[in-house]
Amino acid sequence: MNHFEFKDGELHAEDIAVAQIADEIGTPFYCYSTATLNRHYDVFCEAFSDIDAMVCYAMKANSNQAVLKTLADRGAGADVVSGGELLRALRVGIDPKKIMFSGVGKTISEIDMAIASQIFCFNIESENELALISARAVDAGMNAHVSFRINPDVDARTHAKISTGKKSDKFGIAYDRAEAIYRHAAGLPGIRISGIDMHIGSQIIDLEPFDQAFDRLASLVGRLRNAGHEISHVDLGGGLGVPYKNGDATPPEPHAYAEVVKRHVRGLGAKIVFEPGRMLVANAGIMVARVLYVKRAEGKTFVIVDAAMNDLIRPTLYEAWHEIQPVREPVAGGETMVADIVGPICESGDYLGKDRTMARVAEGDLVFVSSAGAYGAVQSSTYNTRPLIAETLVKGGEYAVIRERQTLDELIGLDHMPDWLEG
Ligand SMILES: *Cc1c(COP(=O)(O)O)cnc(C)c1O
Repeated sequence: MNHFEFKDGELHAEDIAVAQIADEIGTPFYCYSTATLNRHYDVFCEAFSDIDAMVCYAMKANSNQAVLKTLADRGAGADVVSGGELLRALRVGIDPKKIMFSGVGKTISEIDMAIASQIFCFNIESENELALISARAVDAGMNAHVSFRINPDVDARTHAKISTGKKSDKFGIAYDRAEAIYRHAAGLPGIRISGIDMHIGSQIIDLEPFDQAFDRLASLVGRLRNAGHEISHVDLGGGLGVPYKNGDATPPEPHAYAEVVKRHVRGLGAKIVFEPGRMLVANAGIMVARVLYVKRAEGKTFVIVDAAMNDLIRPTLYEAWHEIQPVREPVAGGETMVADIVGPICESGDYLGKDRTMARVAEGDLVFVSSAGAYGAVQSSTYNTRPLIAETLVKGGEYAVIRERQTLDELIGLDHMPDWLEG
């Protein structure tokens, strides 16, 4: 469910006409809905209200500080994967005791920053990382709370680029190595073992892989405890899929996912940590663009819009399907067209949608791309010297620009001439 709906023939984000925002700030831009963010967060939490649960929003999905603060005000912690994300989380006032630090390649300065901030826990992904965190914690005269990301070796049955829980993926510690690494960690200075972690992938639309992975993790918790390790929290990662396309297999509702979770963790007496990203923000955002040209080629129509793959790379990177429609509501029985919706970038991979049957659009019309709140703005680039686009947040009848459109001077001004080319 989301709060982007047609009212009086015009797409609205909550109570604001999207065309009004376009008139005032230009295109393209992202637009997020506060009500949808809140609703998704609440629905997820409600599914776990009867267990000791902590939700650490996986902010790599959308790290804008206004989005982050909206969720944090609702009670969310953060799952961070870089020092930059940690800084954003701290800046918006998220309690360090609700911050989880995940990721395969933490640098020394990132580790130091997290130790100094006294975050809830590091999710450690290798023995070398463990050794480094131990050394840095000792240096700082502190203890680092750690859990290990265990790779349960299950097939998440999702796109290869976002599957992370198989042996062959770069993530986590092999299931068979888990007990040895906990034994080793228990003897290291500066290290406090506090839990266990997994994350098997993203956009998972099938409960079976979760079921298998949770089962393997829960039995490991028993063995680790028997060996004397303290496992006070169990982090089940994120990955719950969202609907992108009407008619596709619908991803499980949070309560169905919760049933599977509870079946495996109820007896553990541990705090259960979740790291949802996409599920909270994907359908809380759209991207709005304007049609530049409608080009009719041999047997094919191209709708060329002012947003491109640098602004939303998901279609070309993951072969992702995003609904694309005109902002003015199509009239029933009106003319339709079959077209590729593409951007201005000099790449054949620059498309937002292919072979789409949609209401006929003309030059100057506004269109919107649905489900663009997750892995959209955060993955944008300035390829073709295209400035980063604006992001807006709506709340009821108000909206705010939460990230300015980058200017060309800001973008080009980052380059520097070496002395030998000067003058
Ligand atoms: C990306 C990621 C998540 C969030 O995944 P979603 O599919 O967006 O829910 C959670 N945990 C870790 C470690 C991740 O890398």
